[in-house]
Amino acid sequence: MERGELKAMLIAKQKELTIGIDELHADAFKRHNATKTNQQNNEKKKEAAFNTLEEAAILELHHVNQALGRLESDNFNQCSECSNLITDSQFTAIPYTKYCSRCANKHFFRSTLHLVPTR
Ligand SMILES: [Zn+2]
Repeated sequence: MERGELKAMLIAKQKELTIGIDELHADAFKRHNATKTNQQNNEKKKEAAFNTLEEAAILELHHVNQALGRLESDNFNQCSECSNLITDSQFTAIPYTKYCSRCANKHFFRSTLHLVPTR
């Protein structure tokens, strides 16, 4: 993929995430003011879910920023694990990826294994 094209995708993603994080903040503020009296438990649960969403968005934004930094180097489109070229379809799916689809799957598989509770 062209550097310019990827950069445009990353900047679009960066914008989308920044707006999303701002909206989550605005919502949290509204809820905070609206729910001082009743349903506090319920609101606390919702707030926890919101915080998780916000954390996920912040983490994703961090990956996007790192990817924008990698764009400056000549091997921005090489897998950081096996050095194969990262395909357009992989960039389209995850513009901030640093792995080719093969290595990404391997990592994903590994990280999902951790989520399976051991008996
Ligand atoms: Zn790879």
